[in-house]
Amino acid sequence: MITVMKFGGTSVGSAEGFRRAAEIVSGGEGSKVVVVSAMSGVTNYLISFLDSGESNADEVIASLRQKHSGAAQDVLSEALLEEYLGVLDIRLQALKELLEDTEVRSDPYFNDNISSQGERLSAVTMSYVLREAGLDSVPLCSEEAGIHAVGCPGAGFADLDLTSRDLSYTLRPLLENGKVPVITGFYGKNGNGKPMTFGRGGSDYSAAVIAHAIDADFLEIWTDVDGFMTADPRIVDGAKTIDEMNFSEAAELAYFGAKVLHPRTIEPVRRKHIPVRVKNSFNPRGEGTIIHHLRAPQDELLRSVAVKTDLSIITVNSSEIAYRPRMVASIIDRIGDANVIVYAISTSLSTIAFLIHNNDVKDVLRNLNRLEGDEIERIDVKSNMCLICAVGDNLLDRCGASAEIFSKVRDANANVELISEGASTVSLNFVVSMDRATAVVRALHEGFIGDLQ
Ligand code: ASP
Ligand code: MG
Repeated sequence: MITVMKFGGTSVGSAEGFRRAAEIVSGGEGSKVVVVSAMSGVTNYLISFLDSGESNADEVIASLRQKHSGAAQDVLSEALLEEYLGVLDIRLQALKELLEDTEVRSDPYFNDNISSQGERLSAVTMSYVLREAGLDSVPLCSEEAGIHAVGCPGAGFADLDLTSRDLSYTLRPLLENGKVPVITGFYGKNGNGKPMTFGRGGSDYSAAVIAHAIDADFLEIWTDVDGFMTADPRIVDGAKTIDEMNFSEAAELAYFGAKVLHPRTIEPVRRKHIPVRVKNSFNPRGEGTIIHHLRAPQDELLRSVAVKTDLSIITVNSSEIAYRPRMVASIIDRIGDANVIVYAISTSLSTIAFLIHNNDVKDVLRNLNRLEGDEIERIDVKSNMCLICAVGDNLLDRCGASAEIFSKVRDANANVELISEGASTVSLNFVVSMDRATAVVRALHEGFIGDLQ
């Protein structure tokens, strides 16, 4: 049996965190592959250094050394600590040279290289902590392991076939020899061997890619919350942990608001039906949330309600929309050129409406205005909108489900600005203004989830 165990930044945020993580890894059965995020705060710190344009890296290096060696000192015995500090210093020296080399800054992969350095340091630290706990552990960076990335800097994704091929050479022999590899999360290497990150929070996705590539039996995501919740506990007092979900429900929730998992985590594991356990390393005895494809049908209508804030609806008006087949395609093309994410689309005879982030409105309008003069009559923008994502197993196969949900929205005194329904059988997504979002989430939770869990 092989389990891939991923530890997030707060789970390896201190000596105590590393120690707890090592206990969890030691306690697990079968072969284990560990994937780590950077220690909490490190990625933000590296990114703020990049943003500052500063070229003297002494302070950054001193602070990273302090953070990692400080944690290791409390956990490692003298002999291991000395060896660890030797390795850490070699890595920090290489990082210092990189940060101070102003010529490499123009490399399109420079930012990805720097922002992924925290994972390289935490992987080494974690590996030594596991050795202290008596495990035969080796650290591997994504390049060495063979995690292949495609896409663009800061927003890569994995080439699953190439990664599977390479991991069968690099990881399998290690596992067969009883070793516990610790691999850097967050990034892979592109075709030229340069680091490409998977977007913020991307270590969850790395772990899922690795689980896929080596046909793991389980993926465990160790984080700082008890699992997926029925709603954001800051909005709903009575929000509870969800014990079980299927892949589709988890993918919708991860994408549309719940910040528990990187949104792409589900894709690679779903393909191979690898169950995922989301667990709290600060409460390892808790059940967490299990995500798999065999979940028993639920009685209650909704499983969870997520909300995505700071969105805008762009409505393009044109009497040509229904009659000119290429019209919709060219509008979508323009939005595609702006390289923004569209969260929902809705059409009518003479309008097409898109939901995008508030920050992307300018770019989208600029591109839409390039469409030929008389094709578009008007473009309307409604900002400060929220997407409510109501998730429930086979929600849309249930007769009357939408009516029940929207009656609660009416009770919350909210106007529905846009609806995206029917595209997914497990979620009903609709837009309300930001000032009604809390009331809507509470009304849906109280009406359909409440004490039923
Ligand atoms: N360290 C990276 C971040 O903060 C990746 C991760 O934590 O998953 O975004
Ligand atoms: Mg995370």
